[in-house]
Amino acid sequence: MRPLVAMVDLAALRHNYQLAKQCAPGRKAFAVVKANAYGHGSPAAVECLRDVADGFAVASLEEAEQVRSVDSNARLLLLEGCFEPSEYVAAAELGLDVAVQGEAQLDALLAAHIERPLSLWLKLDSGMHRLGFSADALRRAHACLQGATQVAELNLMSHFACADERGHPLNEAQLEQFTGLLDLEFDNRSFANSAAVLTMSAAHMDWLRPGIMLYGASPFAELSAKTLGLKPVMTLTASIIAIREVSTGESVGYGASWVAQRPSRIATVSCGYADGYPRTAPPGTCVAIRGQRVPLAGRVSMDMLTVDITDLPPAGLGDAVELWGNKIPIDELAQACGTIGYELLTKVTQRVPRRYING
Ligand SMILES: *Cc1c(COP(=O)(O)O)cnc(C)c1O
Repeated sequence: MRPLVAMVDLAALRHNYQLAKQCAPGRKAFAVVKANAYGHGSPAAVECLRDVADGFAVASLEEAEQVRSVDSNARLLLLEGCFEPSEYVAAAELGLDVAVQGEAQLDALLAAHIERPLSLWLKLDSGMHRLGFSADALRRAHACLQGATQVAELNLMSHFACADERGHPLNEAQLEQFTGLLDLEFDNRSFANSAAVLTMSAAHMDWLRPGIMLYGASPFAELSAKTLGLKPVMTLTASIIAIREVSTGESVGYGASWVAQRPSRIATVSCGYADGYPRTAPPGTCVAIRGQRVPLAGRVSMDMLTVDITDLPPAGLGDAVELWGNKIPIDELAQACGTIGYELLTKVTQRVPRRYING
């Protein structure tokens, strides 16, 4: 078998969920498990959290069906609502909580013949300008829905654009938009993604919606996951599958972009960009072997990458290579590549087996 595995530490996942809850005592939290639980595997994540989580949140009906097949009872929120009118029937059958993010969804909902009423989350566009009603339109939608036969609970939600930047003026402005609707009667309110869970208690409301923090990555550029008390959930581990000596002046890899400045020992590692390792990783990016950091040598290939192990003489064939995890924080790699942990995690491809520990 190809030596590459994404190890998923389920105890760390539970720890991170508990930490989110501890940030906002007395509030509930939807564990956001969209995009296959940020690449970790939705069924296993749901199975792991079902006894502790108040609910789950996903981006589509297809994702909701996957969660339902593992947990038939949990509260389960469709974050973007239904994409076509026929989905309301399915959402009702699955017993979903459904966001309503615009007039078209509202009309389709009011025209839907559903077996049982839905718990709805009216989405306020408080400043992100991606989805949601303006404050005035939301007041009208609220009036339409109050008492409608399709409605069980009527709830309010919104989403931050810049919660990862503490002190950004838009955060305050969005909160003001949200609190401007406090005179309307809602069963529950929800506003906080991970960044707001961790640093904006005024936004905690009734239901949190933590995503990235559950997986042990930081939503902040300047605050590490470790500082926040989060534990990394995924460790991506490959092996050394070949070793060679390269003379001064010889190059390594595609484009011959890396040239040995000294007699060098090069290890070839069983992970490439087709596994989700970023091809954009710049020179100097490190992996960990035997607990030591060693730098990439040359470009990342589709199935392999090469590292300079000259300064790590004990490294040998078959040694484990951590691409990210405990030793190499995913946020550090993401920043070096000009992206975010979210993207690296969700782009681990299907050919990488997920292996679960501490379940
Ligand atoms: C993805 C998502 C979240 C979770 O965001 P994180 O930054 O990963 O915590 C919360 N709310 C909505 C509406 C989302 O789409």
